[in-house]
Amino acid sequence: MAPLAPPVPKSPSHETLDQYVGKNITQICQFGFGKVGDTANHCAHFVGHALALSFGTTCRNMFSLPNLKKAGLIYESGASIRVNELYNALTDTEYRDDFSEADIGLIFVTVTGNYDRKNNRIGEFTKKHVGIIKNGNVWHYGNGNDRVRCDSVKTFISIFVLAYGQGKRKNIILCFAKMPLTNVGMPVEEGIWI
Ligand SMILES: [Zn+2]
Repeated sequence: MAPLAPPVPKSPSHETLDQYVGKNITQICQFGFGKVGDTANHCAHFVGHALALSFGTTCRNMFSLPNLKKAGLIYESGASIRVNELYNALTDTEYRDDFSEADIGLIFVTVTGNYDRKNNRIGEFTKKHVGIIKNGNVWHYGNGNDRVRCDSVKTFISIFVLAYGQGKRKNIILCFAKMPLTNVGMPVEEGIWI
């Protein structure tokens, strides 16, 4: 199946986000980075493609220029693939205890020890996840079954209290990046205009 249509910038509609539900990463990434059943975490990768975010390391960076040329993908933009690089590249981010229906942006979750509250930065520890939050729902990539899913914010949090927090809410940290998303001035991926 061909990859989805070009991503919608800024704040996509509920319907646009719903079009991703049930898709696996091979149907989302035109570069072919990521396979069903692989060990990679594709949550940031999905968000990157859905919102056209190219901050930090991208899926395009995973391929050599000769290979990109051969595949006819040399002028295509890649999508961010790392949760911490994405969070740390954005402005208007904050630690959050609660979310409301009015929140539109990205919701991040990690273990308490992987968040530097003083500097508001997420670390590299593997237990970290990101989704798109809108209308009280979260669209995110379920790495367990390799599909995009949509959960209520409440369900999303309870999934990660169990998965990351050993059942305790205090063991996880939630953060929020507000839309429209802007970055701190980090250059977008290198080598794209050659
Ligand atoms: Zn990709």
